Amino acid sequence: MSDTAERKMRFLFALRTKGVTDARVLGAMEAIDRGEFVRGIFAERAYEDMPLPIACGQTISQPSVVGLMTQALEVSPRDKVLEIGTGSGYQAAILSQLARRVYTLDRHRRLVREAEEVFARLGLPNITAMTADGSHGLPDQAPFDRIIVTAAAEDPPGPLLAQLRIGGIMVLPVGQSDTVQSLIKVTRGPAGYEYDELRPVRFVPLVEGIGQD
Ligand code: SAH
Repeated sequence: MSDTAERKMRFLFALRTKGVTDARVLGAMEAIDRGEFVRGIFAERAYEDMPLPIACGQTISQPSVVGLMTQALEVSPRDKVLEIGTGSGYQAAILSQLARRVYTLDRHRRLVREAEEVFARLGLPNITAMTADGSHGLPDQAPFDRIIVTAAAEDPPGPLLAQLRIGGIMVLPVGQSDTVQSLIKVTRGPAGYEYDELRPVRFVPLVEGIGQD
């Protein structure tokens, strides 16, 4: 077996041992090569279960956390999904394998542009990436079946709760940026919102406004 094939096999095995057991999620994570989303000196560490630095002082999340969040989102093939925090584009690419359509927003133009290049190279036409302050959501395309936020807010942003379809699920980290945050699953039922705390996580903060680059 080649080095890369062996590293990828270990990568998938590590995901399983960390609790990513959903066959569709594992299939998507096998199909999407994380190495495409990490640049420069960190590229060789793409198959380790670690967050890694990307441009604009941001990070690509730890693969097991990507897997657990995707699993908690319970995406089905007809779903329209909104992601806040495009970053490298890795999470959006995985969602593109599971959903009908993915909208992803980031406050850094440069990250959106670079992620779009990777989506084009990998042939993922069902992702639309946009530069925007994601805390306002994307009212033009609402409501969404699923919403995932990959930056931490102190509370779930009101506009995102409002843009979740009844029957929809939102997964997001909440808490202060310099402490341990909680991964929360919000389910919107006909009578209101239900909140489940999933596990402690650590994400970069959700920042207001558009970035300088
Ligand atoms: N999901 C990404 C990792 C995201 S890191 C991946 O798979 O690689 C968090 C991202 O959230 C950063 O790129 C940051 O720029 C973005 N972000 C922070 N606050 C934001 C906001 N208000 N609106 C949109 N994006 C935001």
